[in-house]
Amino acid sequence: MTAAIYTARANLNPLLIDAPADTERQTTPGGQLMITTDVENYPGFAKGIEGPDLMMEFRKQAERFGTEFLEEWINEVELQERPFTLHTDNKIVKAETLIIASGASAKWLGIPGEAKTPNGFGGNGVSACATCDGPLPAFRNKRLVVVGGGDTAMEEATFLTRYASRVYVVHRRDKLRASKIMQDKAFRNEKIEFLWNTQPLEIVGTHEQGVTGIRLKSAESGEERTFECEGVFIAIGHKPNTDLFKGQIEMDSVGYIRTNGHSTATNIPGVFACGDVQDSVYRQAVTAAGTGCMSAIDAERFLDHLPVEMPSGEEVTMDGEHITPDHQLIITATGEVFPNDPHPE
Ligand SMILES: Cc1cc2nc3c(=O)[nH]c(=O)nc-3n(C[C@H](O)[C@H](O)[C@H](O)COP(=O)(O)OP(=O)(O)OC[C@H]3O[C@@H](n4cnc5c(N)ncnc54)[C@H](O)[C@@H]3O)c2cc1C
Repeated sequence: MTAAIYTARANLNPLLIDAPADTERQTTPGGQLMITTDVENYPGFAKGIEGPDLMMEFRKQAERFGTEFLEEWINEVELQERPFTLHTDNKIVKAETLIIASGASAKWLGIPGEAKTPNGFGGNGVSACATCDGPLPAFRNKRLVVVGGGDTAMEEATFLTRYASRVYVVHRRDKLRASKIMQDKAFRNEKIEFLWNTQPLEIVGTHEQGVTGIRLKSAESGEERTFECEGVFIAIGHKPNTDLFKGQIEMDSVGYIRTNGHSTATNIPGVFACGDVQDSVYRQAVTAAGTGCMSAIDAERFLDHLPVEMPSGEEVTMDGEHITPDHQLIITATGEVFPNDPHPE
């Protein structure tokens, strides 16, 4: 949405394609913030704002400057040549530049009680983001459960001890997958307790009270019990929404799109990526908006025939010129090589 606001204000007539509401694909137009309630950390809203209201403001701002919206699922992309081709359920779209902002999805356990309220307690005691939801009043001075055994789980558990009365890490094995440094930090924290060899079966509660407990099963004895708690954080990782781009664009081992770091350029000139789809670390609305702004400015530069820095360090223009990473040489689209000397004799 931020990339649309910037490119629309730059008179580039952006088309924003977002998936329609679909329970099977688990999509809601507007993205992840459409499925949350209070957003307390987005700057500019001192009293907080509901996720869907925030996205509505973003949309109105993008519309104001002329963004065109298309609510369709993209099935296939062809990024080998420009203009790039996108195939949706009903249309074929051609684009000189593409900004990928397809986000990432938290992995869920698939147990009863986990779904979004009113079908479960998602948003009413169940969360997949401690940074987002941990500071909310509903979780303060409460007994909280974190499910998982990797770095994400250790990070979430450690973070939650700032607010919770006690944090219980439920892990299905007798040892963690997390890196040693993250494990040590969690083991040293007196507010964290580990429930080993334990499998979550169901999150229980009432719609008035929210979560009241989690049903657990011992992997050793098979014994089942209800463990009392007031919040459950699922921390078993995220999946970037990049299946569509596999084999066409550079990604890391998990599937996050690789960008330059200094810019949002991918390895394909003219294709940029912003937000959670290229960010396995921060995954926040404000960082998604920040990189959205960067990608718009990068796309503007590219369309203005200016050089854009690629992940390899070289700079590339829309016309196929390359500037070497050391900035010493310019290689034209036809292969001629010139020194990149600002003061030729
Ligand atoms: C429950 C919850 C609460 C959160 N709370 C906070 C919070 O309080 N504060 C905060 O800063 N962050 C919060 N976050 C994180 C925040 O929502 C994300 O960091 C942010 O939404 C990322 O934005 P994005 O545009 O990169 O991706 P997304 O919001 O994931 O949007 C990606 C969009 O692309 C669409 N898409 C994907 N594939 C296709 C396709 N093939 N065709 C068409 N469309 C496609 C998706 O349907 C989606 O609409 C929360 C996340 C969740 C899940």
